[in-house]
Amino acid sequence: MELKIGVIKGDGIGPEIVEEAMKVLDKVADKYGHKMNYTQLLLGGASIDATGEPLTDETIAKAKEQEAILMGSIGGDTTKSPWYKLEPSLRPEAGLLKIRKSLNLFANLRPAYLYDVLSDACPLKESVAKQGFDMLIMRELTGGLYFGERHTSMVDGVKTAVDTLSYNENEIRRIAIKAFDIARKRNNKVISVDKANVLDSSRLWREVVNEVAKNYPDVTLEHMLVDNCAMQLVKNPAQFDVVLTENMFGDILSDEASMITGSIGMLSSASLNDTKFGLYEPSHGSAPDIAGQGIANPIATILSAAMMLRYSFDLDEEANSIEKAVKTVLDEGYRTVDIYSEGTEKVNCSKMGDLIAERI
Ligand code: NAD
Repeated sequence: MELKIGVIKGDGIGPEIVEEAMKVLDKVADKYGHKMNYTQLLLGGASIDATGEPLTDETIAKAKEQEAILMGSIGGDTTKSPWYKLEPSLRPEAGLLKIRKSLNLFANLRPAYLYDVLSDACPLKESVAKQGFDMLIMRELTGGLYFGERHTSMVDGVKTAVDTLSYNENEIRRIAIKAFDIARKRNNKVISVDKANVLDSSRLWREVVNEVAKNYPDVTLEHMLVDNCAMQLVKNPAQFDVVLTENMFGDILSDEASMITGSIGMLSSASLNDTKFGLYEPSHGSAPDIAGQGIANPIATILSAAMMLRYSFDLDEEANSIEKAVKTVLDEGYRTVDIYSEGTEKVNCSKMGDLIAERI
């Protein structure tokens, strides 16, 4: 099969980590008889330097011709880089928001998985950490409080600010369908998180999710209030598989879930629209403090490439082979500097990519 993949190397450590993910993808292509057809795209600081804009219309048009996009992180040191002297709409992050909007990426997926051999980095107490966890937070990305009407005005002589949390049934239905489809590729369980005891938008959320669930009798559905979910994530994270939730709750819960893995260089992510198209990138930023030193951890980007194979191309076996190779390399004791501990072997970014590719 030929895979049309847009590649955004990005800024800071972006080019280093994307290089390693492509190395692993090329090995998968060799082994399973696929052809990776890469198109380089510019976004963020690299695009500002080349064109004066963080994202050009030409790049958007090219991005739309791809089946999926693999991206490193974008942005620079926000206190020192000249990119941050530009007006906000011309800074690197504006390009990221614009590409998400242009490609209608409404579903954000962030897996949080605890590797046995990295459980020392987990901040939870040992009795909880030793049970392990493997969850995927699915956050609605284009609706809710962050996109509702807002204003600040004087009401009866008192300064008052208003933000609006609005969802319609179509916005809820399309992400619920994604969550149930993805649960079928995992452990067939969805926990939908809301605040239905207080909010109308949550009551509609629950109603629509229940409707969608009727088409997925093989997937278990539970509802959980967001305050309880925040507690359960640290008390019993092993109970979660797919966690489906709206924008603001997802923003907070996905950070909480990533924190309990204890290792930012390991966390992948995906943003999907209502086709098979997706943008795949690590959850971390461009780490300008270590850029160019060749020591970044490429695993989050490599795991993002695995998600791309699974969700945009339905190549589950190939995706599993990458995830298994990552686990094997960690079990064998190889570590980049961010996850290094005594008794393990420290390797650089490129060596980590080699080791994972060799084990595909
Ligand atoms: P960051 O995630 O880049 O770095 C935080 C810390 O984690 C740093 O000490 C860094 O060295 C370390 N780190 C991050 N990824 C690592 C990796 N793969 N291997 C080893 N160590 C790693 O966050 P930040 O410093 O707050 O942001 C830096 C820049 O990245 C900013 O310009 C920010 O806007 C941007 N950013 C971009 C994205 C994105 O592209 N989606 C996301 C977050 C931040």
